Amino acid sequence: MDCVFCKIAAGEIPTDKIYEDEYIIAFNDLDPQAPIHFLVIPKKHITSLATLDESDSDLLAKIMLAIKKLANENNLEGYRVVTNIGEDGGQTVPHLHFHVLGGRAFHWPPG
Ligand code: AMP
Ligand code: ZN
Repeated sequence: MDCVFCKIAAGEIPTDKIYEDEYIIAFNDLDPQAPIHFLVIPKKHITSLATLDESDSDLLAKIMLAIKKLANENNLEGYRVVTNIGEDGGQTVPHLHFHVLGGRAFHWPPG
């Protein structure tokens, strides 16, 4: 499949990797929107939260726990976790990913 994040997961595209295990990979965003901005993705191709299946629930829990661990390692107390879904959600890469942003204050509502 011609998916940039599947290629990152397969090691076919170099990336600034910060974490990897059997199921998950995390890497710094190419175009950071905060002093700390990394992405956490499943290695398995899932298009977005909108196509998540019941059988993915363990995987999703693993991703959330990896986010917590990586945020702790980066000494983030307050931070933001975002997943964009579809065109109106602002999703540009159709492979499920969670943005973790930190190191500055964030505002609400988002743009
Ligand atoms: P989204 O717009 O929510 O789909 O987010 C996609 C994110 O992936 C953007 O923040 C991009 O900067 C980032 N991105 C795209 N390609 C790469 C890459 N090869 N390595 C790291 N980050 C990337
Ligand atoms: Zn993919």
